[in-house]
Amino acid sequence: MRIFSGFGSLRVQSGSEEVQLKNNTDCNAHHGDPDCLERPCNLCDSIEFDVLSTTGRDGGFLRTVICKQCGLVWSDPFPIDPEKFYAQDYWVENKGAYNPKAKNIYRSAKVAIDRYRKISRHIAGRKNVLDIGSGGGEFAYLLSRVGFNVHGIEPNAGYGSYSKQTYGLEVDIGFTKDIDFKDRKFDFITLWHVLEHTDDPHAVISKIHDWSSDDGLLVVEVPNIEAVCQSPKNTFHADHLFNFNLETLSLLLEKAGFSTIDRIVSKDGGNITVIAKKHHGSQKPDSFAIKGNYEKIRDIVNNHTNLSHFLSMNPYARLLRKIPKLIQETSISNKPVDGKQILDTYYRQEIEKSQQG
Ligand SMILES: [Zn+2]
Repeated sequence: MRIFSGFGSLRVQSGSEEVQLKNNTDCNAHHGDPDCLERPCNLCDSIEFDVLSTTGRDGGFLRTVICKQCGLVWSDPFPIDPEKFYAQDYWVENKGAYNPKAKNIYRSAKVAIDRYRKISRHIAGRKNVLDIGSGGGEFAYLLSRVGFNVHGIEPNAGYGSYSKQTYGLEVDIGFTKDIDFKDRKFDFITLWHVLEHTDDPHAVISKIHDWSSDDGLLVVEVPNIEAVCQSPKNTFHADHLFNFNLETLSLLLEKAGFSTIDRIVSKDGGNITVIAKKHHGSQKPDSFAIKGNYEKIRDIVNNHTNLSHFLSMNPYARLLRKIPKLIQETSISNKPVDGKQILDTYYRQEIEKSQQG
């Protein structure tokens, strides 16, 4: 097995055989070379892998590999440069503009309330919250209105600035690796659909460990690689560099010094949420191999075919769930809007509840 890396001179031990890492310009994985790997597993450092898929959601070439030791799934080679992609292109491509329309704000507000309810029993009694990947600021603003001190981090300057100006939020524009809080600590940190977009999830969670207060809690939600609610062709996205199931996500947090205290799977199975607490000392797991996890994920992905999908209730249930949302949204104007006014109205019930409690 050959291992390739952008860093040139690294060497990796593969069983008894030592492999020379080469510059990734030598790597033919872009053309489907099955033996070529750009980076070792981010969770267990193994280089034993299998190819899960070579096609992305858009039908183009996207090679997705799975670690045979732990079951972590990632795009190899990375199809995008995340620094460039998220700093500039992401929001424009996905939302069409830097200034969200009413429709987008309503959608994000509903998601923000769902997220808040999901974590309400864990966040109760906490004070200083860090929301990483705060986007347009809807979730951070909800937390600030129900009584928390909230700080956001957002790599996209357009959305970060919008959330600062519109909602008066405190937001750092940049990636976690560029931010320095010095001695400032947070007792609750959230990453909603962020970790799958990063190029080094272990480094991100390790940095978050430094930012957490002694008994700090961390919430991480990502798409579930075991999900079968989506059409099979939509399983692999070019902008999801890593894919997790509950086992790999929990172990990644444990590797960086957190203990899992709660695990939630969304009703449709599409998303997984792990809530973990910071710990000190030598509680890290001895091994990062997860027995049977590679086989389990491989079988779920391979058995999720077009036929199995359309014979299941999933596509129809998904459509039914979308109809009320579409009806509601067609009645919403597309004119420029006052985001703060929308959120204050939409969040009123949660705000009143927090004032009573
Ligand atoms: Zn692994």
